[in-house]
Amino acid sequence: MNNNVSPIREGVYSPDWQQDFRLALKSLTDLEEYFEVGFPQTPYSQFIPRPFALKIKNAGEGSPLWRQFLPADEESEDGGLVDPIADEHYSKGKGIIHRYKNRILYTPTEVCPIQCRYCFRKNELLQNSDVFKNNLEVAINYLENNPQVEEVILTGGDPLVLANHKIEQILEAFSKVPSVKMIRFHTRTPIILPNRLDDELLDLLKRYAHKFTILSLVIHTNHLSEWTPEFLYALQKLRPLGINLLSQSVLLKGVNDNWLDLKVLFSSLVANGVNPYYLHHPDPTKGAMHFMLSREEGELIYKKLKEESSGFLLPHYVVEQPNGAGKIFALNS
Ligand code: SF4
Repeated sequence: MNNNVSPIREGVYSPDWQQDFRLALKSLTDLEEYFEVGFPQTPYSQFIPRPFALKIKNAGEGSPLWRQFLPADEESEDGGLVDPIADEHYSKGKGIIHRYKNRILYTPTEVCPIQCRYCFRKNELLQNSDVFKNNLEVAINYLENNPQVEEVILTGGDPLVLANHKIEQILEAFSKVPSVKMIRFHTRTPIILPNRLDDELLDLLKRYAHKFTILSLVIHTNHLSEWTPEFLYALQKLRPLGINLLSQSVLLKGVNDNWLDLKVLFSSLVANGVNPYYLHHPDPTKGAMHFMLSREEGELIYKKLKEESSGFLLPHYVVEQPNGAGKIFALNS
């Protein structure tokens, strides 16, 4: 018997997040056996950690969780763009995407804690795009030659699926570049694998929060039904660390396209120490067009949300411009 493997208890996160990661549902057969229904073969892969899969199963077909994470026929339909925000155009190679003057994206991994069916990078990740092939030394060199860049945004994939020593190596390298004042993680992991926020990672974030002017953690959450007691516990541990805790959400048809669900989500975030930052209008993505809303529909929802909410609960409602020219406010908050 391998003493390093905890017994699987359905719906319970293991003390070792990497075990939950290894034992995730990874194929159509895994999904069909677990959920006891048939799913269509689509071009996209499958990945759902088992504790989170139970939440989806309990929420049932047609729920916001089911729609976000389980394969659907519409993913095989024509329409939409492979690279809707033109990552490739702004790629400088080796994991660097430079779209805005004072900040770059760096993608240290293509791996995610779950396969989100609405993801705007789902085609690039599927095709193993060169955009995401990273090299830390090249990134450091790029920053040294571009001192106008003061913020590095770690995205992917999801940077928090990396091992702690890898994250430390990245933070240490960026902390040595004098012009880099801010680090930002964009992550879905605290929602999907809240046990990933282990003591070693928390200690690491705390130490590096003091080495940058601002260290931000932008938690990606779209609906309150995604939340677990383990996520709330992780937030409690994050709050005292001196980190800028923010959220981003995507407005998705059939998931959160009503003002009341959004109001509940944003007020719950603020109540737990997280400032809602962005509400993204969905991008016209190949394989995810069934999540699209029109701008008019989105604006109506946001206007109503604004009428019904205190200003501090409102994230910026933003839309990506065509050809990757960057975000603009879809409607002023
Ligand atoms: S975790 Fe983020 S990058 Fe990965 S599939 Fe989900 S939305 Fe896309």
